[in-house]
Amino acid sequence: MRKMIVAGNWKMNKTNTEAVEIVSKLNELIADVKGVEVIIGPPFTALSDVIKVAGKVKVAAQNMHWEEKGAFTGEVSPIMFHDLGVEYVILGHSERRAYFGETNEMINKKIKSALAHGLKPILCVGEKLEDRENGNTENVVEDHIKGGLEGISKEEFANVVIAYEPVWAIGTGKTATPEQAEEVHAFIRKLLTELFDAEIAENTSILYGGSVKPANSKELISKENIDGGLVGGASLKAEDFSIIVKSVL
Ligand code: PEP
Repeated sequence: MRKMIVAGNWKMNKTNTEAVEIVSKLNELIADVKGVEVIIGPPFTALSDVIKVAGKVKVAAQNMHWEEKGAFTGEVSPIMFHDLGVEYVILGHSERRAYFGETNEMINKKIKSALAHGLKPILCVGEKLEDRENGNTENVVEDHIKGGLEGISKEEFANVVIAYEPVWAIGTGKTATPEQAEEVHAFIRKLLTELFDAEIAENTSILYGGSVKPANSKELISKENIDGGLVGGASLKAEDFSIIVKSVL
């Protein structure tokens, strides 16, 4: 049985004080929730204090360098996150690819390093609007998946979560229809069957991301191959995020 997951990506939002308040409130709101893994990815500056109040919420870093230490000014390493109690790391987000020049090769190194240091990667993949309009959605998603997962064994892959995030739907208010999302999720699962095997593909959590909000989450997550959501804007308010979490049940 695959895990249902709702993860919040806060991007460059919220001070440490605000983050602690929101996560404490979220914990109260989801106190009775069972059967969904709830993850919050605050900025690096809030990780340490958020972990102290996280309760049942798991904590993710939003990015990571692949090296353990060294002369990489401004970067943060997997051993630093692991030491804090961080469990997940979001890798390959489209904003990292677009604004910070992250390539499949870099993302692949980060995924391997995260796994080697006991962190679970959430690998983000997804096409731009022009790719979709040119009929290239599957090619782009396949390239992101194959490039990101190159050289990863079946055993290692058991700790990877995939997030399908069409770039045209991120932060735009334009959500993929449940049918559009389901089509790509089913394609990803088929690809994972080819790359690994049917059992592994069946057990992989594939999250949808792109303008998920309380009003549309249930419809999206109820699709057969959609195992939860990666939520940006709507994860910044504890109430809204808790509604999305509960929509999985
Ligand atoms: C994201 O950044 O991963 C995301 C899905 O953002 P939003 O929900 O705001 O579209």
